[in-house]
Amino acid sequence: MQRRQFLATTAACAVVPWPVLAAGPARPRIRPFAPSQVRLRPGPALDAAEVNRRFVLGQDVDRLLHNFRKNAGLASSAAPLGGWEAPDNELRGHYVGHYLSACALISASFGDAQARQRGDKVVAVLADCQRVRGNGYLSAFPEEFFDRLRDNRPVWAPFYTLHKIMVGLLDMHTLAGNAQALEVVKGMARWTARWTQPLGDADMARVLEREYGGMNDVLYQLAAVTGEAEWREVAHRFDHERIFRPLADGRDELKGLHVNTTIPKILGAARRFELTGEPRYRRIAEYFWREVTQRRAYATGGTSNGESWGGDPGVLSSELSGYTQECCVTYNMLKLTRQLFTWTGDPAYADYYERALWNGILGTQHPKDGSKLYYVPLASGYWKLFGTPLADYWCCTGSGSESFAKLGDSIYFSDDTGVYVNLFVASELSWADRGVTLLQDTRFPVEPRTTLTVKTARPVALELRVRIPSWVARGGSARLNGKPIDGFAAPGGYLVLDRTWRDGDRVDVSLPMGLTASAMPDDPSLQAILYGPLVLAARMGTTGLRPEILRAEPTRPRTIPEYKTEGLPTPGLTGAAPWVRPEDGKPLTFRTTAGERRELVPLYQILDERYGVYFKVPV
Ligand SMILES: [Zn+2]
Repeated sequence: MQRRQFLATTAACAVVPWPVLAAGPARPRIRPFAPSQVRLRPGPALDAAEVNRRFVLGQDVDRLLHNFRKNAGLASSAAPLGGWEAPDNELRGHYVGHYLSACALISASFGDAQARQRGDKVVAVLADCQRVRGNGYLSAFPEEFFDRLRDNRPVWAPFYTLHKIMVGLLDMHTLAGNAQALEVVKGMARWTARWTQPLGDADMARVLEREYGGMNDVLYQLAAVTGEAEWREVAHRFDHERIFRPLADGRDELKGLHVNTTIPKILGAARRFELTGEPRYRRIAEYFWREVTQRRAYATGGTSNGESWGGDPGVLSSELSGYTQECCVTYNMLKLTRQLFTWTGDPAYADYYERALWNGILGTQHPKDGSKLYYVPLASGYWKLFGTPLADYWCCTGSGSESFAKLGDSIYFSDDTGVYVNLFVASELSWADRGVTLLQDTRFPVEPRTTLTVKTARPVALELRVRIPSWVARGGSARLNGKPIDGFAAPGGYLVLDRTWRDGDRVDVSLPMGLTASAMPDDPSLQAILYGPLVLAARMGTTGLRPEILRAEPTRPRTIPEYKTEGLPTPGLTGAAPWVRPEDGKPLTFRTTAGERRELVPLYQILDERYGVYFKVPV
């Protein structure tokens, strides 16, 4: 290995401009790997994925299908479920869509035959239910809900639920190879086309004011998967111009919007750009992402308060509560981030992905039983209010079942010349096309380093690009087969190793983590403290946390009286920074050195205790 074979690059050079396209599809130059190509190895991600696998496989398929069978007039002796899957809940059936996606992901990423069989069974029963009705309609509630939507009468969100089922079916087709699932989802798309067809643009605009998930997104995906252009036309009906117009013009009019209603629409815009090459939709997606991540996100990377954007851009200090950072929101922001990364390879997307993953996904599932969080509270003194297993079926129970089924996703990406290593997660990448297996050994974040080992039957030339995160402190370094590499990429870039790799070649990368503060954009005296990408939380005790208030009420996650009122004062720090120092002998544990004495641990590790993320500091 010679020195000149190395090329260290920074973020700015890594971004390749998008080719100018007059029309036609805009194919991203970077590709994610399929879930079946990445296996997690022992570590916190695999532990969390296993907890979720038990949670998902612990579901009773006949109980999940009960409302679908009843709605189609088929017999069901199963006991109905509760929460948002109860027979009288207007969102019933939505979790079944998430469940299909989770089964497809688990089946592909673990090679889990049981998950595959469960998914196949659900698809088969849904196909029966659809056949009985004969018009393509498939839901756990009657078509009359859609009459109410059309006639502007009260109804919760029927297209939101349909969207989840359609995505679940499409995932069973694309990830688990279920051909029947594609036929069922096409039937649903045909029904949707017929439902929207008589509605004029004004009526449709009114329909779009009701939360509809990513109906545009799934229909564009269906067009891409099948090559059938007709689904594009149906997808266009769900492109929400009232939301898109200001974004296309570079205006933030997000204040007051329901966050998790909005992001899936933008995912649809991104997909439209990929399908048609229309630059307007790229502009919408990229402007939206920049605005939300730079001016509307907390130090965690999360966004939303009480499910909405309550303030003007950059106003967040008044947006702290027990109901911040809805988990579905992070799930959807990660989807968007992953997609935008494939357009440019800009490591800023990977930086955000990592931050939101550690502070907004990991730590939102109870390791004991796999129950999920709805919100990640960012006001001081609150606790993580987990759901009740097999009883709540909130939106976030659904998106959480998927999030923890795809922890192998977005670790690696590829393009024509090489591979990107974006996340530091113990895993094995099988890249059969290039005859390469890449092993990643790491105890990150407990140890700030990772080791990549190449396995190959014959020498292979490719660029190995290791992300050097923006949080890396001074002293980062890399070794190839034990020998120091001269030059190290600047933080926020990639270390690019362009060479012919032989079996057993090994790259060790050291990624020193340091303590940094992240101030509220509108109040510099309110700061969160991070260690590397990890937001630290001050432990604030368990006073008053009786077991019954550690779990949310199954149907209504916001009604525990103590939870409404029992925040505690924001912890204060005095003197000059740094206010915390590492606790000897306890990894990832810190202690305040000024002001109130507190122990700090990463937010993702906090469980069943009160905590605070923002501190009042002297400025
Ligand atoms: Zn949710």
